[in-house]
Parts: sequence; structure tokens; C-alpha cells
Amino acid sequence: MPNSHLLDADILIIGGGIVGAATALKLKQTYPQYSVMLLEKESQVAKHQTGRNSGVIHAGVYYPPESLKAQFCRAGLKAIKAFCIEHHIKFDECGKLIVATTELELTRLEALATRCAENKLHYQWLNTQELHKAEPNITGLAAILIEETSIVDYKEITQCMMDDFVDWGGSYWLDCKVNNIYETSQGVELDTTQGRFKTKYLICCAGIMADKLAKLAGIEVDFQMLPFRGEYYRLNSQHNNIVKHLIYPVPDPELPFLGIHLTKMIDGSVTVGPNAILGWKREGYNKFNFSWADSKEIIQFSGFWRILKHNYKHAFNELINSLSKSQYLRQVKKYCPSLKKSDLTPYPVGIRAQAVSFKGELIHDFLFKKTTRTLHVCNAPSPAATSSMPIAEHVVSQLEDLIKINEETNI
Ligand SMILES: Cc1cc2nc3c(=O)[nH]c(=O)nc-3n(C[C@H](O)[C@H](O)[C@H](O)COP(=O)(O)OP(=O)(O)OC[C@H]3O[C@@H](n4cnc5c(N)ncnc54)[C@H](O)[C@@H]3O)c2cc1C
Repeated sequence: MPNSHLLDADILIIGGGIVGAATALKLKQTYPQYSVMLLEKESQVAKHQTGRNSGVIHAGVYYPPESLKAQFCRAGLKAIKAFCIEHHIKFDECGKLIVATTELELTRLEALATRCAENKLHYQWLNTQELHKAEPNITGLAAILIEETSIVDYKEITQCMMDDFVDWGGSYWLDCKVNNIYETSQGVELDTTQGRFKTKYLICCAGIMADKLAKLAGIEVDFQMLPFRGEYYRLNSQHNNIVKHLIYPVPDPELPFLGIHLTKMIDGSVTVGPNAILGWKREGYNKFNFSWADSKEIIQFSGFWRILKHNYKHAFNELINSLSKSQYLRQVKKYCPSLKKSDLTPYPVGIRAQAVSFKGELIHDFLFKKTTRTLHVCNAPSPAATSSMPIAEHVVSQLEDLIKINEETNI
């Protein structure tokens, strides 16, 4: 490894999504005396998951109370709203309805109501008539209303966090892809498309690339990131007022995703989606994007075959829904019967970064790994945008521990 380096910083962060941005800001606020730098491979921040999601500030209905997701989502909702108020970023507390349309879903909805109570979340149970009164275009047997759920533009929040980070004295590099990581007892060096960087501590918030960077840092990873495409449609603008709340189906507890929902966006439009279908390219957003390298990794990954074995029926249905607009629409018509195929217009795809264990289990909770001088956010799926600020606090407290240990070892 050559000794020359382009630039150095006390702490380097890889990844300019909302998790990297929130972490960079929190670090600079906590350690104003340290130089902190963020490296992002794209020409702008929030280009991947953060800029391609539903824009929902989740309240934390679904997650087991002891999980990091439950804790960080509850705290994250408050933190994101406070950040928006402080920075004059528009958000809308429109609330969310989870609508049951069958007897089975009704039973599952009751379980969700119990979960809300466990998570100390205020909710209202609506019977058929109350649901109809709240949402005349929505049909269902019952629903729960969570008023705190809100909508926002996470891209705008991320850019604002980066601006704040710079105001606090931080700096960031765009078009700077990290290709290699070398850790020594003294620090970490990075090979990037913009030359060599040197740092005392490295934090990786690389979304769908989390496993690759963890491996580069020498971690023996026991998971692989799989890309799950989330395909959306946008309703014709004549339907912008079709609903007052966000409308979610009751999810199948066996599946990690929330089901195709009707989402009011902060720009006033309404989207339908996202579905969840395996992608064959980590950052390939077009329908038939394909990467040999990524596909080979997926096919060689034992976890993929195990998931497929247990979920092949569901995977097949999702594929049909993806290929046929009429089938996709059927999912929505269960609770919004008036919609027609011609109401669905194209909308950009998002790709979820989902960690899957070698045993073929989807890792539901947020996952962190570390070495002596590197910290990795390894699994930050939804609601990680909502939870980004508590995730950042968690990372900073883990870094404090690393710094202490290294200082004690070096005495
Ligand atoms: C379809 C969809 C809908 C969702 N809806 C919601 C929602 O409504 N509410 C919610 O809270 N969450 C939602 N989520 C989840 C949320 O968007 C993500 O959890 C969150 O954005 C993750 O942020 P991140 O910073 O970890 O990842 P990303 O936003 O993906 O950022 C990672 C960054 O790392 C960079 N990077 C990677 N490798 C390198 C490298 N080698 N060198 C330099 N840079 C690198 C990438 O370019 C990227 O910019 C949704 C996600 C999807 C896909």
C-alpha cells in the first residue's frame, strides 16, 4: 500500500443517503474538534433508497417492542418532525389507515392493534361505517387509524442535513467511489476513484453495498444484501384527493414488506405501491436491468435458494403483479374499488437493500458490525429513513466506545 494520500480526516463516512447524512451531522455536532468527511459515489446525495421511497414518516406499528426498529422508529418520528420544523421543511401529518378486507385480515388487524398498544402508540379502531365516513372511496371490514404517521420528502431532508453538516465544519466529496479499505492499528486508508484517503475511524452507511464494504474492511459477513425492487404507479392527477390518509393493506406477518399502499406524496400526488420483487442488479432501476456479476452473486448465495424454497408462491405472484398492470391493480382494488387501469401512470422504482442471512432468513432488524476502527450500518431497511437520526445517535455512541478502547490500548 503506497504511503501517499490525497486527504485525511479524523472520521470518514461512506454513503450520502439519509443514514450517512444524519450520522455525519450528529458526529460533527458531537465532536466539533474532529475533522469529519463524507464520501459519496454519485454526483448527488440521496440518489438511491433515500431518494426513491414512499416518503412516509412511520409511527412504528409493526415492529416487536424490543427491536431496534420499534425504538428508533418511535424516536425517529419525533426527531424528523422536529428537524423539519427547525428547518422549515414541509411535512403533512395526514395519518394512516390500515384496512382489513377479509376475515383473516381482520384477525391480523386485531393483532396489529395489540402491537400498537405494546409499542405505546395511539390508535383508533374504525368499524365499517366509521371507515366509510373517514374515507368514502375506501372499502373494508374495519381499519386502524394512526394519526401520527406523516409524509415528507427525504431527499430534501438529506440535502438539508448535508448543508448543516457543512455549516458545522464538515465536508463531503461527490463522485467518490470507495474501491478498497485497508485497516491498520493506527487508522484506515481508502482507495477511491478520487485518490487515496486516510482516517482514524471509518463509518460505512452504504445501503445496498453494505455487505461489500464490510467485506473490504475484513469483516466475515454472515449475510448478503439482496435488492428487492419496489415498483410504483402514480394516480392521474384527477385522483389527488381520492384519499385523505395513507391507505395500507393488512400485511402478511410472514412477509417483511407492507404491501401495495396508496400514498399521498408531499407534492400533492398519490402513488400506488410498492410491490416487492427480486432485482437482478443492485442499482438497476429499469424493469429489465440485469447485471451478470450481481446475478451470479445471488445465484451462488445459499440464502437466496432457501428464501425461494419457502416463498416461491409469493415470489411468483409478485412477478405476475409486476408483469401485469391488471393484476397489480387487483391488489389495490381490494380496498379502493373505483380505480381503473387507466388511472395508473408510470412512477420511478425504488430498490430496497435487504440483508439476508446464509440460512435464508430476512434480517428484519437494523444490524451493525464493527472492527477495531470501522463501524458498519449493515441492514437499514424501512423505516430507516424515519429512524435515521436515532440510528446516527447509536452509531456515534458505538464510535465513542471504539475511540475509548483504542485510546486505552494505545496508552
Ligand atoms: C421502495 C422503498 C420505499 C421505502 N419507503 C420508506 C418510507 O416510506 N419510510 C421510511 O422510513 N423508509 C422507507 N424506505 C426505506 C428507506 O428509504 C431506507 O431505509 C433509507 O433510505 C436507507 O438509507 P441509507 O442511507 O442507508 O441508504 P441509501 O439511501 O441507499 O444510501 C447509501 C449511499 O451509499 C452510497 N455508496 C454505496 N457504496 C459506496 C461506495 N463504495 N463509495 C461511496 N459511496 C457509496 C450510495 O451511492 C448511496 O448514496 C423505503 C425504501 C424503498 C426502497
